[in-house]
Amino acid sequence: MSERMYNFSAGPAVLPVSVLKKAQEELLCLPGCGASILEISHRSKQFGEILAQTKQNVRDLLGVPENYKILFLQGGALTQFALIPMNIIRNRDVSADYIVTGNWSKKSASEAKTQGKINVIFDNKEEGYVRKPKDEELHTTPGAAYCYYCANETIEGIQFPREPKVDLPLVCDASSEIFSRPVDIEKYGILYACAQKNAGPAGVTLLIMRDDFVEMSGDDLPSMLSYKKLAEKDSMLNTPPTFGIYIMKLVTDWLKEEGGLQKMYERNLEKAKLLYDVIDASNGFYHVHGQKEYRSFMNVSFRLPTEELDKKFQADAKEYNLTSLGGHRSVGGERASIYNAMPREGVVALRDFMIDFMKKNA
Ligand SMILES: *Cc1c(COP(=O)(O)O)cnc(C)c1O
Repeated sequence: MSERMYNFSAGPAVLPVSVLKKAQEELLCLPGCGASILEISHRSKQFGEILAQTKQNVRDLLGVPENYKILFLQGGALTQFALIPMNIIRNRDVSADYIVTGNWSKKSASEAKTQGKINVIFDNKEEGYVRKPKDEELHTTPGAAYCYYCANETIEGIQFPREPKVDLPLVCDASSEIFSRPVDIEKYGILYACAQKNAGPAGVTLLIMRDDFVEMSGDDLPSMLSYKKLAEKDSMLNTPPTFGIYIMKLVTDWLKEEGGLQKMYERNLEKAKLLYDVIDASNGFYHVHGQKEYRSFMNVSFRLPTEELDKKFQADAKEYNLTSLGGHRSVGGERASIYNAMPREGVVALRDFMIDFMKKNA
């Protein structure tokens, strides 16, 4: 098979075709460089420019003020689950509050427990992670360093319609929704995201961190685990993930060309509505995991009446040029990840297939 299909993978996930083409064009020789991005020093002038431009793009798109650092780290989002409490609460005799609304925030809280005192101020496992908390359900702990949450639970397909209102700086795992909508950065101590969902390839994780949070990290940490030391060296304490940063530059260039995050947000809502409208009109043939007002516009997680139909759905979808629609192994069913780079035509193709499949199988 050599044709591209509409790829609904949750991550690593679809990238804009124009970004892939540009990377392909420049892969043998980065203009003015005489070599590939894969072959040049991270200390070279050319890479320095790529790093600076990527940071500037992130600043422009998200409106990041000067008192925030932008870091590009390795180890994926999961490493940050531990590094955040390691840097911010360990040894400072402070605690942090955690909001648990699904698999990723649950995992994050359990990693954090290895580093310090945390209070889980909300956990709706009993309900099956079908919603986010209402503000009045959140009671923060006096003196806590931050309130942690996951903006979009990629597995369950539930999303905060807006950030929680609490009296603490927010720390947010935005891995599966970064750049999908505008964000009020000043509410955050740390906002971070692995790149491979909505911002680039696997191997680089973006962290946006307020200066006072950078300063909190203890001096006793190994350099590569210390936010302070990583920030002092502008993510270049050792060789950074150069190719990942380069692709993130191309993705953020593309986002700017496409009109920025408000534009993306409007497009994303419209794309998600195409699918949810079919689901809502299906008389329960398609069943969504999350409650209506918390349904994700990035990961549409649903199931069919039987597991046999789930299997048939995924097999038949391939004939329509639609791929990677299987749900996460922990929840089963289907999941259509419709990140920024998924074109509207891809979502329309999936919608038409869903209507067709229901006619034949309901
Ligand atoms: C994918 C994902 C992660 C895990 O990312 P890794 O880079 O594989 O560690 C964490 N949080 C969320 C919300 C995700 O979607």
